[in-house]
Amino acid sequence: MTTQKPAASETGDPLLLTPGPLTTSASVKQAMVHDWGSRDAGFLAINKMVLDKVVELAGAQGSHVTVPVQGSGTFAVEAMITSFVPKAGKLLVLINGAYGQRALKIAQIAGRAAASLETPEDTPPDLAQLEKVLSDDKTISHVFAVHCETTSGILNPIAEVAAIVAKHGRRLLVDSMSAFGALEIDARKIYYDALAASSNKCLEGVPGLGFVVCRNTALAECKGNATTLVLDLFDQAEGFARTGQYRFTPPIHVIVALGKAIEEHAAEGGVAGRGKRYRNNAKVLIDGMRAMGFQTLLPNDLQAPIIVTFHMPTDPKFVFQRFYDGLKDRGYVIYPGKLTVADSFRMGCIGRLYPEHMKGALAAVREVLDELRVSNGGPALAAE
Ligand SMILES: *Cc1c(COP(=O)(O)O)cnc(C)c1O
Repeated sequence: MTTQKPAASETGDPLLLTPGPLTTSASVKQAMVHDWGSRDAGFLAINKMVLDKVVELAGAQGSHVTVPVQGSGTFAVEAMITSFVPKAGKLLVLINGAYGQRALKIAQIAGRAAASLETPEDTPPDLAQLEKVLSDDKTISHVFAVHCETTSGILNPIAEVAAIVAKHGRRLLVDSMSAFGALEIDARKIYYDALAASSNKCLEGVPGLGFVVCRNTALAECKGNATTLVLDLFDQAEGFARTGQYRFTPPIHVIVALGKAIEEHAAEGGVAGRGKRYRNNAKVLIDGMRAMGFQTLLPNDLQAPIIVTFHMPTDPKFVFQRFYDGLKDRGYVIYPGKLTVADSFRMGCIGRLYPEHMKGALAAVREVLDELRVSNGGPALAAE
């Protein structure tokens, strides 16, 4: 029986402790209760503000342009890979989770030559091996790296990867989907040709818009690379330069909500302020879960404050579906793991969540464990 009052967002919905889509503010949702034409000057002004602000958040004014892509984050990743890697190019994908795997699949489907450098899901890319592969294989033109691999929550060493790729004269494509807006990635310090992210993760907008921050000089070389009409970043950018408009129907409500979300991001102190709240969330969550015996997959120094992977308790009385349902009844939605290295589940720290929400989630975890008669969340103490 539920004793704790169900937790809820400002609009009464369960809180999403997930990798996205996420809990958004009431004001972000409220921004969507209007209709605009796709050529409406008010909408186009908001859209331009959004694209300009994204470049600013990237520290990329003057060097890069934001090219939006209708769709989820993967649409932006696919647009980035297929627009930037020429047909005669070759992509090296650094893999330590599902999003790296997905990028490799995108390259293969598009008929691009591709290679991968894989490490286990709890292990950062092997930088010495990266050096060696780039020295040995001169046909590699581009390297793809994931900033925070949301599969495990690991923070990959993107600055070190960027430095190696630049030293070898190759081009870097970054998937910063689950980090952008909360973890600094400054284009003045980290050299990349393109970086993909989306509306519905750390910027706390609603899902429906991906975007790619593109180096102007690199984008200028992308004409004719694309393998699809809709995901052609060169063409999309040219359309904006010519008309200020999308080539095809834009997700107007999503973009207007993202405009509001970016205002709220600025009010919170930008990337530093957003990152600080998420770090607090992650600390409360990890400390509290460890106090109940749960073990994190990652050591603290590899853990990004985005989403945390916990080992599944080994007590036979722990049944994940009942744990999940018990938390859902109390207003907290968690996420199953999708690791190959360990049986696990995940709890997110991002979205419109504050440390008090994490404390509420911990109290709910305690209640559900009691209900299941599981005294310890750890892998070691199966018997009581
Ligand atoms: C969320 C995410 C994506 C995009 O996923 P969608 O479901 O298409 O939005 C890509 N890469 C990473 C690392 C992500 O966390």
